[in-house]
Amino acid sequence: MTAQTPRLEIRNLTRRFEGKTVVNDVSLSILPGNVTCLLGPSGCGKSTTLRMIAGVDMQDSGTIHVDGRLICDTITRVPPERRSIGLMFQDFALFPHLSVGDNVAFGLKGPKAAQRERVMQLLGRVGLGGYVDNWPHELSGGEQQRVALARALAPRPRVMLMDEPFSGLDNRLRDGIRDETLALLKEEGTSVLLVTHEPEEAMRMADEIALMRDGRIVQRGAPYNIYNAPVDKAAVAFFSDIN
Ligand code: ADP
Ligand code: MG
Repeated sequence: MTAQTPRLEIRNLTRRFEGKTVVNDVSLSILPGNVTCLLGPSGCGKSTTLRMIAGVDMQDSGTIHVDGRLICDTITRVPPERRSIGLMFQDFALFPHLSVGDNVAFGLKGPKAAQRERVMQLLGRVGLGGYVDNWPHELSGGEQQRVALARALAPRPRVMLMDEPFSGLDNRLRDGIRDETLALLKEEGTSVLLVTHEPEEAMRMADEIALMRDGRIVQRGAPYNIYNAPVDKAAVAFFSDIN
């Protein structure tokens, strides 16, 4: 395997619901440590794409590889928990009956001491080292979000899938948490596929943007290039509400 093997590669993914093609021949690859934003208006098929990669939905055709390993085609289907994929969704809440520390440790295996060390490393890193024995409900929304990020990163997933993870947060907090999240993802070297309908978020976080519309990827490139040379009038209009 060379350094350039993509962490995540999806090829020709297609998904139909009741005869309607919701994801249409979507291909993408993400290199190690890179953040790709799947950007597009509501209903264009972003979450469905993520759900197939996570393994909670099944494509009608196409393939998914992680680190060059086949994860899913129409015959093979590696179960979600064996895909080395981390998830962060807007409504992916902490487990209310587990302490903050036990939430972060949830996906960990192996010796307890090593688990504890990883939990404390991540909680310390997100500024919540003192909250390991607290209950989730004792934390603010922004703090819970940081714990959710620590939980998702704890097992060192090869790829992190994030579906509008910041949309439940107050405007005032959002930019700060976006920046902190991005910094931690970069430190951990995690490759990320982040779904958003907000151009501003994609511009802020992405190494590469994949612009999606009506189930298809209509343009891919560096944020600066997509912003400056949108593929068509609809893309211009979509980006026009950034200030
Ligand atoms: P996005 O995340 O971009 O807003 P989705 O992937 O959630 O879009 O949905 C894309 C389209 O697929 C929508 O028209 C939605 O109604 C439809 N869809 C999603 N899931 C299902 C389902 N389980 N059954 C039928 N239609 C669905
Ligand atoms: Mg969605």
